[in-house]
Order: sequence, then C-alpha cells, then structure tokens
Amino acid sequence: MTAIPNLDLRDFAPRPALTRNETVVEQPRFPVVDAHNHLGYLVPNAPFGGAWPTRPVAELVAELDRSGVRAVVDLDGGFGETLRHELARYVEAYPERFVVFAGLDYAAFERERNIGAYLANQLREGVAAGARGLKVWKLLGLRLRDQGGKLYAVNDARLDELWATAGELGVPVLIHVGDPVAFFQPLDRFNERYEALQAHPDWHFLGGDLPSFHTLMEQLADVVMRHPRTNFIGAHVGCYAENLGWVGQIMERCPNFFIDISARLAELGRQPYTARDFFMRHADRILFGADAPPSQAVYRLHYRFLETRDEYFPYWLGERPPQGRWMIYGLDLPDAVLRQVYYENAVRVLGLNQAVFTR
Ligand SMILES: [Zn+2]
Repeated sequence: MTAIPNLDLRDFAPRPALTRNETVVEQPRFPVVDAHNHLGYLVPNAPFGGAWPTRPVAELVAELDRSGVRAVVDLDGGFGETLRHELARYVEAYPERFVVFAGLDYAAFERERNIGAYLANQLREGVAAGARGLKVWKLLGLRLRDQGGKLYAVNDARLDELWATAGELGVPVLIHVGDPVAFFQPLDRFNERYEALQAHPDWHFLGGDLPSFHTLMEQLADVVMRHPRTNFIGAHVGCYAENLGWVGQIMERCPNFFIDISARLAELGRQPYTARDFFMRHADRILFGADAPPSQAVYRLHYRFLETRDEYFPYWLGERPPQGRWMIYGLDLPDAVLRQVYYENAVRVLGLNQAVFTR
C-alpha cells in the first residue's frame, strides 16, 4: 500500500474518467448578438478592477467574424468624454457591429441633491450622442450612498426619473444587482464560492447596514414593476441564476423584464432540466451574452452549451473553475429558441437593423 499524502483542496484537480462526447461547435447555428460585453476604453474609476486591455478594433472584428458574432454590445460607454471616445472607437468605425451603452456617473450619488434629474439629463445627452442603452453596476444597493451616508436602495424613489427617462428615450436598462447568492452568505466551509471569496474578500456582502440578497431582489422587482414602459435586462440571468423559478415569475409578471445569460453557464449548466424548461418558456426574453473578452474559444463554449447534448464538461477555459467545483451539461435547444436567444430578442430590444441578420 502506498502512503497517501494529505492534499490541499486548492491543489485538487480531478480529471473525469468518464467517457464523454466532445462536440466542437465551430459556428453558431444562427448569427449572434453578444448583448453583454466590456470593450472598455478609458473608463475612469471603473469598478471591480477596471477595464480590460483593449486591442485594435479591426483585430477584434476579425475575431468576431471567426466566431460567428454579428454584433457586440459594449457596456463600458460611461458618460461625457469617455462615451464620445467609446462611440467613435467602435460605433463610428463599425456601425453594424457595435452598440455602446451609457453608464452612470457614480461619483454624483454622494454629490448631487437631485440625483434623478441629474442622471436623467446625462442619459439624454448620452443617447443623443449615440448610446443605445444604460448599464447599471451592482454598486447600486451595495455601495452608493447619499449625502447623509445612507445607502441608496435599488428602488429609491429619487431614481425614478432616471428609469422613466430610459423608457421615454426607448433605450433598455441593463442592470446588475446583488448576485451571486453565495456572496451574501456566511463565509464558512459551507459557502459554495469559498475559493472566489478567499481570493476577493471585497466581494463578500454581509454585515453592517448591507441589505440581504433577498431584499435586493425585491427592490429590483419593484423597480421593474413600477416602470412598465422601460425595458430592463437583468444581467447574469436576472441576477438570480440560482433560482430560475423566481426569475421566471418576475418575467411572467413583467413583460418589460428581459435577462442575459452572460457569465452564468456554470449556474445554468448545473441545472440542465430546469434551465432548458426556462429557455423554452421564456424564449422571447432571453439574450445571449458572454461578459468575457471576445474570443473564438469563449463563444464556442457557449455554443456547445446551448446547442449540444454534451455532458459533464467544464464551464471555464482556464486552469481552475472560477465559480465553483462542478461541471455543466448542454441544453440541446431547438432552432426556434436558438434564433430568438442568439439575435431576434436583441434586435427587438436594442432596435437593431433586422436586415443585417437575415441577408
Ligand atoms: Zn459585465
């Protein structure tokens, strides 16, 4: 008998002995709109680690062509000078390939007395300059405070003018709130995101005057319900991929609530039966998104997940699983659903030129 040494969990990297199919989906079955990505160019005070390095736009477009992606939504527009830069860099150069969303002036929350009107006006300017939507980081509800030091709730009435203005302008609000659930749970040996939180302790939201995950979700649902003329896109599967029943219920109550699947293959792929039912039922409200630097490898992983019956495969590309130690299963979605998720829903919500996708 050989002696078996103790092994740290972090060093444990088992290789499945299971004989499995590995389908390489080189091209998506239909043209794709990546409705959640970050091509950040000169983003000032970018939260959560700053912008990714940029590469020459022509090179990026060649990568998209290779990957079968027709258009990408860049959520890093910001406002003012940054937004103009971003629009010039992407949209003016390739009007059919890029959409840029405006962002919020987060520093204004503590400064401006009439924050709703201030941000609404900024959004008007952004849309006039060419922005096609508004991105809201999950700082809202967790970090942004008013002059009295009080946290803004996601559904704070002072922001109503902003949400209403997006509706008037006909641009969607892509919003990330809370998510994931484990970041709001005690950081102990039962936490399924223990390794991520160990590496990023600032991602843990528990204690002080921080709201619970459930409270944040109720606040989000309240905003969506109170602004039926504004389209909202809940980032990362409606900010609650761990509970598709909850997300589906809000979608049923609110025809103005859409979701993107970005960065949540891990969550969707570990509940393939529930996820497939969810896609079948809400096919007209789900947008494709990667939320990762565009590459053929990233997109092929998504196509494999959505299109095949492959089993028990990694949801990540690097060395280690970033979102928990499990594998995923393909959803084998039918053509009609794939077409909606890949581009039809995005064309409708973003007001894109349909002809680009059918020629
Ligand atoms: Zn993102």
